[in-house]
Amino acid sequence: MLQTALHFSHSLLSDVVTEGNVVVDATMGNGNDTAFLAQLVGSSGQVYAFDIQKRAVENTKEKITALGLSDRVTLLNQGHETVSAILPKETPLTAAIFNLGYLPKSDKQIITKPDTTKQALDRLLSYLVPKGRIIVVVYYGHDGGKAELDLVQTYCQQLPQEIYNVLSYQFINQKNNPPILFCIEKK
Ligand code: SAM
Repeated sequence: MLQTALHFSHSLLSDVVTEGNVVVDATMGNGNDTAFLAQLVGSSGQVYAFDIQKRAVENTKEKITALGLSDRVTLLNQGHETVSAILPKETPLTAAIFNLGYLPKSDKQIITKPDTTKQALDRLLSYLVPKGRIIVVVYYGHDGGKAELDLVQTYCQQLPQEIYNVLSYQFINQKNNPPILFCIEKK
């Protein structure tokens, strides 16, 4: 059966992330991707996870502590657009993931925004190693979601094909704005 955007995002990450890698969860939320990445990078790797909501950081801390993964995770209660203040220059980044939108069962007014998403993408691309991947899963059914989808789609389409492979993945016959996944791979 075809994979959902969520499962496909994890397959795309597992293809490239191995022990000892440095990776970023740009939107930690409840920590599902943070925990998944923490397992992939092993005890010698590092996951930098960002979220502007304190509650997201607390939920994620609880999750990774219960799983015994906190030794390899840096939780940051700040926006992903600040990534350059955290990752030293020349850090070899193997992968990053964004889940854009709002935190489910939480305040729907706190959403990712096109300008900060673009800033974070620009910065993260500068760290990406060859064969590294940045995955952006866009949920866009909420107010402001379509503008962010347009930004991400245009951003991805304009990346030079000499340097990046970019794909989009979506179910085109589903109701209720199913998420669209973009994957940017550095050649
Ligand atoms: N991947 C998460 C999970 O596994 O639960 C879900 C992420 S949720 C769709 C989007 C998250 O992005 C929210 O928790 C929200 O607080 C966060 N967010 C909004 N603006 C942000 C920013 N500038 N930097 C980092 N996170 C941000």
